[in-house]
Formats: sequence, structure tokens, C-alpha cells
Amino acid sequence: MSANYLETMIKRDEIDRYYQNGRDFIDDDAIRAEIADNAKPDKARIRDILQKSLAIETLQGPDVAALLSVEDPELLAEMADVAWKVKHKVYDNRVVTFAPMYISSYCINRCRYCGFSADNSRGLRRCLTQEEIKAEAEAMIRLGHKRVMAVYGEHPMTGADFISKSLETIYSAKVPGRHEGAVNCVRRINVNAAPMSVDDLKKVHEAGIGTFQVFQETYDHKAYAAMHPADTVKGDMGWRLTCMHRAFDAGIDDVGLGVLFGLQPDWKFDVAAMCVHARELERYSGIGPHTFSVPRMHAASGSEVANAKSNFTDDDFFRAVLVLRLSVPYTGLIVTARESKELRDRCVRIGLTQMDAGTRIDIGGYAAGNKDQKIDEQQFLLGDNRSLEQMIVDLAKQGIITSFCTAGYRCGRTGGCIMDALKTGREGTFCKINAVLTYREWLDDFASPESIRACEPVIEAELAAIKEMYPKFYPVVMERYNRICAGERDLYF
Ligand code: SF4
Repeated sequence: MSANYLETMIKRDEIDRYYQNGRDFIDDDAIRAEIADNAKPDKARIRDILQKSLAIETLQGPDVAALLSVEDPELLAEMADVAWKVKHKVYDNRVVTFAPMYISSYCINRCRYCGFSADNSRGLRRCLTQEEIKAEAEAMIRLGHKRVMAVYGEHPMTGADFISKSLETIYSAKVPGRHEGAVNCVRRINVNAAPMSVDDLKKVHEAGIGTFQVFQETYDHKAYAAMHPADTVKGDMGWRLTCMHRAFDAGIDDVGLGVLFGLQPDWKFDVAAMCVHARELERYSGIGPHTFSVPRMHAASGSEVANAKSNFTDDDFFRAVLVLRLSVPYTGLIVTARESKELRDRCVRIGLTQMDAGTRIDIGGYAAGNKDQKIDEQQFLLGDNRSLEQMIVDLAKQGIITSFCTAGYRCGRTGGCIMDALKTGREGTFCKINAVLTYREWLDDFASPESIRACEPVIEAELAAIKEMYPKFYPVVMERYNRICAGERDLYF
């Protein structure tokens, strides 16, 4: 990649302006020292910290470090119990579902762990045309999806203009529903893409996105440099680290952070550092991340790094999710279908808030109706291949309602407004009611009679809880619920 190209892509002044004293906000030595200094907290201190989590306070570094050091199974069980309560207080009893749409496998970067790396000559390269994007969206809608995560590699073909156009195309896709005259569509698109300049982020913002995600992969400067060649755009760690500051300056007030666990051996460092990033965003804009994602490195075509055995275990993964849930209590937590059903079930019980299902990550895989995974055509391999319907029924059997709610974004409950509502538990009320309304819609439009029977008890339990918790509001909820039962769609609070 030429030096000129790097200069065009990376705006140096849009990095430097967010640095303090010429440095980025991740001080590796300070984070490691904090973890070492808090390695032996007593039970009383952990219980004090848990009270802060229950009060939906963002934890400071020493408290995060103390939680990371807990090994005692009894104390871990107490933490899990509090994590469940925190999640219920903020997001109630629902898990939101979405599905990723991988739009292009072209990438100019050469990340050593990725099947889409420009160095990987084995993988099939493909970028969907606008017609193919529409067909892909229609196929996803037919499966019952309402929330799409559009995923793009970093390439001149898939810059801000292409992303904006593709969002317009996805929103334009419409599919007739089961009821006469009913039309199903994608109601919200979140975007996972490369870091952009403020001007490009403004374009994407104007196209109407939900959450804008950029994963840091690792916050460890040395490990980052080892995995991302310096002569690539992604090799500039500062450009990536400051992306969400630029997003806020571009008017995007809903952002998602993530790290790729297993990329470097010290997972505790990356948990602590992602919490530093959350606090830095709160400091900068008053708005923390809406979501944390916790992908883990999985086998990928042509990558020795990804295919090597990792020392990051399922138990480590569980603890990482647990500490994140407690450390930034207002934040949503996404555990994707990269992980097994068993591990995702464990994470549901400690406060995971979003899961994808029926996932295809080969380019054009939904429209093609592909069933098997194709290692040379996707970025990595998946661990949970359940259909959306299977996952919804499985969650129902655990008493958990699946939500297709997109109301927050469409009612303007984003940014500082949603932060406040999440911290005070007000958003949980909307989560509860909108989960019931969208669940009813989904069951009537997409589920088999058997699945409807399996899911009805969850609706009944949720409606009974709404009646008990909000007796005055209950008739208003029932009025909309009954209209949905009669075939009306897209009603929400
Ligand atoms: S991880 Fe992302 S940026 Fe790196 S090669 Fe893969 S698609 Fe490109």
C-alpha cells in the first residue's frame, strides 16, 4: 500500500486532536499496574463494588481490576447473581436479536488473524452489488429479521458513499407478510465498518444508522502492532482508537466497542482497557458505548494465527463477559454465533443482551439459501448454527423473551437520552413492553404452530408482569397488543 494512500485515508489532525499531552488514552503500563495492585481483594471489597454495579454506576479502574482477579467460585457465583439483577434492572427480561449481513470480503488490510486479509490468496473475494444487497435483505426479512448488522471490510470499493447507498437499498427491501396487506422490512441497520473521517461519518450518519461499531481487536499497543502491519491503514492504532470520538463529532451518538479475545494472551488487560475506552467516551461526550461485543478468534481460512490453539478458554470468556456486565452496567452486551449454544446460554444468565441467530457470514449466503459453512468464503467459522426460530424457542424454554424492538432509535431514545434512561431503569419498561409487542408480531408472522405453543407462556408471563408493575398503563399496552393480534404492525412505545 503506498504512503500516499495511507495519507489519504488517515487524517492525522483527526487523531491528534483527541490525544492528551500527545498520547492516546490507553496507558498499557498503568492498566497492568492497576491489575497487579488489585490482585487480592477481600470479599467485603468485592461486595462493596457489586453495590456500585447494582446502582448502575460505571466502575473505575481499581474496581474493574479487583473484579478481574476473583477466582473464588462462591464469589463468582455472587457476581453472576448480581450481573443477572443488573441486566434485569437496565434491560429487563429480554434478549434482542439481529443478524449480520456481510456485504464484501475485499479488504486492503493484512490482519494476521483474518480470512479476508489481502495477503490471503485462498479466499473467494466478492462484493455484493446493490441488487444483490436487496436480494440478501429480502431473504433475511423472509427469515423474520428486523435488525441487520451490515458488515464491511476496509476497501476503496466500500467507502462511505457505498455504505450509505447500501443502507438505502436495505431499507428499501419489502416482503409481503402472512396477513393480508402486511409488509415486512428491516427496521434498523447497525453498521460494523472501518474507522472513518468525520466527514465520511457524517455521510453514514445521514443515511440512518443505528449503532456504529468498530472493534479495537486489542488495546495492547505491542500486540496490536504485531497483528496489524504498520504499512496498512489498520496498522495505525491511533486512527482506530479515536474513531468513536470522531463519530460523536459527526453526530453519531450510538456506538459499539469490541475486542477480539484470544488475539493476545492477557484477556484481563483487554477487559480493563475496553472499560477505560468506555470511561474515556463518557468523559469526552457524556455518552458511553451502547454495546460491548466480545468476539473471540476462531478458525479462519489461510491464517496461522487464527488456526493456532488459543489458551483463552470458555471459562475465561464467561468471566470476561461477567466483569464487563458489572463494570459498565448500562451497556448492552453482544455474544455472537461465533460461540457455541452452551456458552451463549451461560452468558444469557449473566446478562448478555443481544444475540444473532440464523446467521450466514458468507457473502450473499442468505439469498443463496446456503446451509453449510464455507471456510474459504467467510471471515471465520461459527459455533452456533441454530435458526432464528430454534433460538427463540430455546430462550422461551428458559423463560426469556426475544425482542425485535427498534423503538429506541426511532423515538430518539439514543445518546445522552438513552444513557439516562438506562441508568435509571426507565428504558427497561420500554424494553419489556416493546419486547412483548414485537414478539407477538414475530410469532404471528413467522413461527410454526408448534413454536407458537412453546412461546405463548412467555408472553402470558410478561403480560401478567406488566399488569402487576404498571396497572394504570396496562390497558394502553393491551389496546396495542390486541391491534397487533388483529394484524396491525409496527406499534411501539
Ligand atoms: S480483520 Fe477486518 S480489517 Fe483486518 S483483514 Fe480482516 S476484514 Fe480487513
